Amino acid sequence: MKNRVYNFAAGPSMLADEVLSELHEEFFNYHDSGMAVMEMSHRSKGYLEIFEDAKARLKRIMEVPDDYEIFFMHGGATAQFAAVPMNLLKKKADYIITGNFSRKAAQEASKFGEVNIVYDGKENDYSRIPSSEELNLSEDADYVHLCSNNTIYGTEWKKYPDTGATPLIADMSSDILSRRIDMSDFGLIYAGAQKNIGIAGIAVVIIRKDLIIEADPKTPQIMDYALTLKNDSMLNTPSTYAIYVLGKVLKWIEEIGGIKEIERRNIEKAGLLYDYLDSQSFYQPHAEKDSRSLMNVTFRTANEELDAKFVSEAAKLGLCNLKGHRLVKGIRASIYNAMPIEGVKKLVEFMDEFARENG
Ligand SMILES: *Cc1c(COP(=O)(O)O)cnc(C)c1O
Repeated sequence: MKNRVYNFAAGPSMLADEVLSELHEEFFNYHDSGMAVMEMSHRSKGYLEIFEDAKARLKRIMEVPDDYEIFFMHGGATAQFAAVPMNLLKKKADYIITGNFSRKAAQEASKFGEVNIVYDGKENDYSRIPSSEELNLSEDADYVHLCSNNTIYGTEWKKYPDTGATPLIADMSSDILSRRIDMSDFGLIYAGAQKNIGIAGIAVVIIRKDLIIEADPKTPQIMDYALTLKNDSMLNTPSTYAIYVLGKVLKWIEEIGGIKEIERRNIEKAGLLYDYLDSQSFYQPHAEKDSRSLMNVTFRTANEELDAKFVSEAAKLGLCNLKGHRLVKGIRASIYNAMPIEGVKKLVEFMDEFARENG
């Protein structure tokens, strides 16, 4: 594909060329139906095949056990900040705050019940993930909530806390399908699709069946897990095109070798950036070494003017959207599954050149 840039945006973000070209090929006339996918009824046979295929691929790739359900829901991850407590918070829930999104999740949950903040990393500017010993988990929480990858700060859990019989719930919006996880460690995971697995418009929710219980009576139908199950994620018109794109992304992952290969690539890509960062002193990484994210690499130069110069000169070379989030400032390279290693190599080359010219 011509004139494509390396898009380091945090989300929505890059899609693989293979995915885009299949979408393009099928755009006007999907499989001889004479219509585009976005024109198809969600109840039609043709569309239901797309829907079931996406679900089956996700189950296969993530090795989702049979006692879990997969939902496609509206409103992105943010709707799940509310849906989780509306469905599951009966008395009290533990929230681990490792960044902006986990704080938002806790704030939303506090509208629906008692929220116990068991850790908050604001003192160290969210530059690290806590150890299990640092968490003051409750004895009697309905669940423990964490964010597996902190998109803005560039930190990621390497080993999840053992919460015993209390279900662990994770917002995996920015690292779902980036590496292998054991679904049975979790009661529920959710993710907006637009970072690692598709486009904006859906959240994927994977929930252990015994957690599908009666929601708070004021829960809107569209956020109710029991009703979502009963209607197989089609209580109303689902985000048909976003689910179709998700299926294409999953097909691409299977074709290149599944999650094992994705994980290998992600370790290699992030390794190039972190090895470079550790070899020099012009750039300072934000995240502490043992908490570094494979998906969002955050760092800064000596001052904000130089950061801005870096971002604008990189963009001229087709290395786009490297500006850090306003809460951390500096520079952020989001290198999700679809970012090719060539993009990362080109970025490291540019970083080195920029450091030599401006150091
Ligand atoms: C982007 C992001 C969100 C917000 O996602 P929406 O789908 O826009 O609601 C939540 N959590 C994490 C970890 C994110 O990266």
